[in-house]
Amino acid sequence: MSDADIAVVGLAVMGRNLAFNMAEKGFRVALYNRSVERTDEAMALAGPLAERLIPCRSPEELVAAVKKPRAILLMVQAGAAVDESIARLQPLLDKGDALIDAGNANFHDTVRREAALDKAGLAFLGVGVSGGEEGARHGPSIMVGGKPEVYGRVDKIFTAIAAKFEATPCCALLGTDGAGHFVKTIHNGIEYADMQMIGEVYGLLRRGLGLTPVEIGDVFERWSKGPLSSYLVDITATVLKTVDPKTGKPLVDVIVDSAGQKGTGRWSAIEALALGAPASSITAAVEARGVSAERALRKTLSERFPGAAQPLTLAGNREAAIELLEQALLAGKILAYTEGFAIMSAASREYGWKLPLAEVARIWRAGCIIRSTLLDRIASAYDQTPDIESLVLAPGLTPLFEGAAGALPEVVAEAFRHGPVGRDLALAGAAPAALDRRPDPGPARLLRRPRLRPDRRRGPAPRPLEPERRLTRRTASGFPAATGSRMRPAQPGREHRAENRYRLILDGGRGPAREGRTCRTKSTATPGARTSAAPPAPRCSPPPSTAPAGASS
Ligand code: NAP
Repeated sequence: MSDADIAVVGLAVMGRNLAFNMAEKGFRVALYNRSVERTDEAMALAGPLAERLIPCRSPEELVAAVKKPRAILLMVQAGAAVDESIARLQPLLDKGDALIDAGNANFHDTVRREAALDKAGLAFLGVGVSGGEEGARHGPSIMVGGKPEVYGRVDKIFTAIAAKFEATPCCALLGTDGAGHFVKTIHNGIEYADMQMIGEVYGLLRRGLGLTPVEIGDVFERWSKGPLSSYLVDITATVLKTVDPKTGKPLVDVIVDSAGQKGTGRWSAIEALALGAPASSITAAVEARGVSAERALRKTLSERFPGAAQPLTLAGNREAAIELLEQALLAGKILAYTEGFAIMSAASREYGWKLPLAEVARIWRAGCIIRSTLLDRIASAYDQTPDIESLVLAPGLTPLFEGAAGALPEVVAEAFRHGPVGRDLALAGAAPAALDRRPDPGPARLLRRPRLRPDRRRGPAPRPLEPERRLTRRTASGFPAATGSRMRPAQPGREHRAENRYRLILDGGRGPAREGRTCRTKSTATPGARTSAAPPAPRCSPPPSTAPAGASS
């Protein structure tokens, strides 16, 4: 009998719980899984909800069980499994039927799949679902991408099963094709950064201040009642206060200190780079996970380059240190959201989605992993100024950020001095954005390739500085001269040599990125080798405001 309102394909933890959620809200749901055991398991776990579930043993049975035009939700492993599931179902479907991919797809795949199915007369939605198993069962945050008329066919089901924030469903159509999956991707990127920063602050509280897990749990619990109020801070408090029943040790001490980085979290960093949207805390969090996964190498390096942890400078004033860490975490959290929303804003322009960013913030307020009270302020910011350049400029966020931002560089400096937390980078990634004293003009002038050859359009070549003079001054101070005023122009005949030197120095292999990488690697692996984070010996002498800068403008 074809009376199911919707079908769910893929009955692992997410699909099964979404199906139970739908059944609980009164919908009839047809179920199918590639391995039949999972279907049986789902039916066994369904309890009284089983009467609204229709277990199917084949795709043919499934298609026959759903009302036309059909809506079939795929909740299988992201990637090839989605294409394979579509390939199996497509020949069985009628024109106008809709396939809905609710897994963690790469949005580029979603765009491709929608276009291909559209050509075949089938409808498609790409839907991001956040909240894990618990969310799927009791109310996730749902981010939809696709055509409004297709969404219109399932919006009743989606809004019924979505989490509610003060009675408003956390579910919305955010744009066409890949918009929903893109927003879910960035959600997970923010989650990476937020979790990483929480981990770093935990590390400093534990090793820098010598607090026990339970004491740190109390600190997080206190913080969760203030502006840091969020699911992740809340759950951290709970985890830290939990004892492992098997060993009797704090649970945190029996968790393996290694995390993977794949799929959505990594794609956030990749898409940010592709869009030219700075996302240093998200990227750093992805990298930190990569470092954490190199367990054997970490062990080898820490044995080869041992270094003792140093207590935080502020350890003598525990309460002041805790307050500083709270502020740093708050600033970092604001910046992680700021990065995430800036990436979405750039993508919205690039792909023509017109992402409703206030709505994105609103549907993240319940059900999803990064739910937090900050999202109310973020929603208001985008309501007031939809094209705001940076969230930290929003009237609702500026005072909070200003109050906290100063703590971030202080904590980062402490973390690097402290040693063992040196490998953790997300707070450090966020720190530059917290410095309101960003130099203007900045050092980017030296990143532009100076043109010292004559340029007919621009007039005569700038004169290189006299080489020996530069060398002397650099040797004496260890740093480039502060201004160009005391430098003599080169003598005729030396210009060619000097030009080569500039080229060599400025185009050479050891660019600033490599220096940064070296510092990170060393601080990661060799707590004792912290001095490597000191400014690298200057390799080119003129400061930004002198000749080469002028030459590049
Ligand atoms: P999963 O472990 O990602 O995937 C397992 C499911 O995919 C099983 O039903 C499996 O069927 C099916 N599958 C794998 N390869 C297949 C293929 N080639 N053809 C057909 N089916 C195939 O399951 P999950 O954790 O429930 O996640 C489902 C989706 O939701 C994923 O995209 C995931 O990234 C996303 N998601 C997960 C969470 C979470 O907390 N787990 C949260 C949000 C989003 P068999 O039983 O036959 O192997």
